[in-house]
Amino acid sequence: MTEFELIDRLRVLMPSNASTQVGPGDDCAVLDLGLADRWLLFKTDAIVEGVHFEVNADPLWIGHKALARCLSDVAAMGGAPSHALVTLGLPRNFDAARVEGVYAGMKRLAERHGVAIAGGETTSNPERMFLSLAVIGTAGRGRCPLRSGAQPGDALFVTGELGDALESGRHLNFEPRLAEGQWLVEHFEIHAMIDLSDGLAGDLKHVLKASHVGAEILADAIPIHPAVRGASEESAEKRSYAPDSRLTKALSEGEDYELLFTLPEGESVRLLDAWQERFPNLRLSCIGKISPGSDLVVRDRDGPRPLTLDGYVHFQKP
Ligand SMILES: [Mg+2]
Repeated sequence: MTEFELIDRLRVLMPSNASTQVGPGDDCAVLDLGLADRWLLFKTDAIVEGVHFEVNADPLWIGHKALARCLSDVAAMGGAPSHALVTLGLPRNFDAARVEGVYAGMKRLAERHGVAIAGGETTSNPERMFLSLAVIGTAGRGRCPLRSGAQPGDALFVTGELGDALESGRHLNFEPRLAEGQWLVEHFEIHAMIDLSDGLAGDLKHVLKASHVGAEILADAIPIHPAVRGASEESAEKRSYAPDSRLTKALSEGEDYELLFTLPEGESVRLLDAWQERFPNLRLSCIGKISPGSDLVVRDRDGPRPLTLDGYVHFQKP
């Protein structure tokens, strides 16, 4: 059973109530607690030593990542975070200076975004450290772009550059795209949005499934991070779909924490112009479009190819 199959089975055991606008299955839960013009966003996320960070990682960046992952999900709802709670699990022989370093990393990021760390809990945990964060924030009432909102004909955009997040260290020191997410929702009719944690191919599939649509992405339009090295030469056309190619890495590696979103195609030029003006240092790429049906295909000079996914991405020549 995969993690996603397990979540599907658990979902029926998670009760809802009248104030829950969006329950399990999006980047944040969305709650209507009676705030004028605002909905509440609610998110939790955990990172575990040896899984999400190495034991010798810089404590500042461990703390940064723990909070930044939650803030990235708030960004994907076009929201503004406000408060966090921290649950810290520690082995008995913990190093106090290391733990202080972790909290200093959280503090630095929290202060930059006006987030209060309003409490928490410590517990012992054999062998390894873990951090579980819960974050609340708000978004405009009725203005959260959900995974389920993509429509055939929408243009598909992604921020930044993708791939090699683990080796380059970007999985630790990335900046959650909060200003970008809020600006997009304020100025454009964003139909669907998600942050990239599982890799572009995997996260796009979440959007397509929730929206009951397909997509065609353009191989040449994928913004590959300059740090990505592929065993296959880009010029060797036949090998550009190999498991170790730069394109495959950019599509499948994960932990990029960039924003992937859709909007009506007619808005694309206005968006690119305004983006250039507002965020001149962050790349924005139109990588394809949403289509009817349910197929995800990659188009290059030779035509479209299906993009399949089972844990990792495998490309097949048609
Ligand atoms: Mg997410």
